[in-house]
Amino acid sequence: MIINNTVDEEKLYNNSNVYASHLKWVPLSEGQRRKFAGREPAPLYGDILIAKLRPGQEIEMELFCEKGIGKTHAKWSPVSTAYYRLTPDINFKKDILGDDAKELKKLCPVGVFDIEDIAGGKKRAVVADARKCTTCRECIRPQKFNEVVDLGKLKDRFEFHVESVGVYKPAELVIEAIKKLKEKAQHWLEVLEHQEASAGAEDLDGVK
Ligand code: SF4
Repeated sequence: MIINNTVDEEKLYNNSNVYASHLKWVPLSEGQRRKFAGREPAPLYGDILIAKLRPGQEIEMELFCEKGIGKTHAKWSPVSTAYYRLTPDINFKKDILGDDAKELKKLCPVGVFDIEDIAGGKKRAVVADARKCTTCRECIRPQKFNEVVDLGKLKDRFEFHVESVGVYKPAELVIEAIKKLKEKAQHWLEVLEHQEASAGAEDLDGVK
């Protein structure tokens, strides 16, 4: 049936979309109710579409929350994409002026270069934002730029790109991950120290 001369499902059916925000937490005990009062468990993103209902349809379901960590299963991992790279460091071996400066600026698809005015009404290419560089190498294809543009990396500066899919903010994830790394390093340090101490004790026994 077409109502109001429309086939738009959003107008045809009222409240037919079921979203994550429609899920309501039901405490299993009075203790739980008190414990989570004011901060009831709820989906992190309420606008996730769960189902589209049509006349006569209904959903009956019970959901159970299970807390876990990414080490057990990836479904609990708070991170989706994570990678790092060395920070780009771009320099010119000599000035790039005039039309060459304009050409170089155009060559970069992500806008790393810009042009500045210098004395004598001349134009000079400058590196406006090296961090935008994707190392596509387009700017060094022409021989004249290949000899002048130095596409380098800062060896002691890393850029981390982390996407969060959980309650942690990306910046918090990096700090938590570093803490975990430190914990693991500390653990293995203690294991090695213990082994060294045991080996030393055995040597002494042998001497006796
Ligand atoms: S390598 Fe590519 S992204 Fe980087 S500065 Fe050159 S043209 Fe731009």
